[in-house]
Amino acid sequence: MPSLAYSPDPTPDPTPDRTRLTPRAYLPDIPVSELHKFLFDGLPVRGIIVRLTDAWTEVLQRRQRNTSTGPWAPEVAELMGQMAAAGALMQSNIKFNGALVLQIFGDGPVKVAVAEVQPDLSLRATAKVVGEVLAGARLPQMVNVGNQGRCAITLDPRDKFPGQQPYQGVVPLHGDRMEKLERLSEVLEHYMLQSEQLDTKLILAADEKVAAGLLIQRLPVEGEGNLAGSFVSSANEDAIGVNEDYNRIATLAASLTAQELLELDVDTVLRRLFWEEKVLRFAPQTPRFACSCSRDRVSSMIRSLGQQEAEDILAERGDIEVGCDFCGHQYRFDVVDAARLFTSPGDQPPVPRAVQ
Ligand SMILES: [Zn+2]
Repeated sequence: MPSLAYSPDPTPDPTPDRTRLTPRAYLPDIPVSELHKFLFDGLPVRGIIVRLTDAWTEVLQRRQRNTSTGPWAPEVAELMGQMAAAGALMQSNIKFNGALVLQIFGDGPVKVAVAEVQPDLSLRATAKVVGEVLAGARLPQMVNVGNQGRCAITLDPRDKFPGQQPYQGVVPLHGDRMEKLERLSEVLEHYMLQSEQLDTKLILAADEKVAAGLLIQRLPVEGEGNLAGSFVSSANEDAIGVNEDYNRIATLAASLTAQELLELDVDTVLRRLFWEEKVLRFAPQTPRFACSCSRDRVSSMIRSLGQQEAEDILAERGDIEVGCDFCGHQYRFDVVDAARLFTSPGDQPPVPRAVQ
């Protein structure tokens, strides 16, 4: 195991009496998160396995010490871990220079759940929970009570040309016969089949220490592409469900239990599942937690509220405070900061304003 300096927070906590972290977080033996891609030699099948460890516990810890939200219920945490693992698998499965954002818009107590993964596999996740999540709640009870829940996958290009919109695909949280899907993996398998015409097997699992996933996918029949739809071809569609090599390997993958996925190391999982197959491995990658929030972005957000609204908040509270739901960072703007936001820094002479 490589030794690593695990630092859950760059700044030391000035208030050590706050109960905000589980003791485990400071143990030096938390393994580094890892993602491995592999191919089945000579077969039209590829795979990816991800184990989020330090990246995942950091998401959980930041949520736990966010005093305005508090920690997630275990059921929500499990869903979020599965989303983070799935987001990492899907991001690494495409050639795309931009964020992959996996979102669930729920009609239950979990209103929105978001996992965002960058091309370098840095990731963040958050959820908005209103009301009580009952113990033992599954996907339908959390986000699909009235069968109105939706899952959206958005690809947001890093270098947009003017007017370019992010690509987004949306799938319901029910199957073809309106049956509520019990697992996120089923929802995403549906999505992959619809958007890419590619058979995909997904196994996802998460607990308070590990968020992990295994993806097995049939390779496209022709060409290369990504989630934006360039796989779509009649040859691909005709191949759905009929490739024997894919079906055999997907069946092997499906025998993996959540417990095995969470507890076993990657080498052991791949050996146990595919010992009769010739697996070609690629160099592993290292997903990590990172939040892309910044004072600049929050400034733009406040500007978009308009000056009157900002002044109203200032008059009421004395300053404007905006917290990042992903990382818990608090951004504060006092009267002077806020006035500066609405002063054009351009080449025009400053316009006198009556800031009360
Ligand atoms: Zn943030």
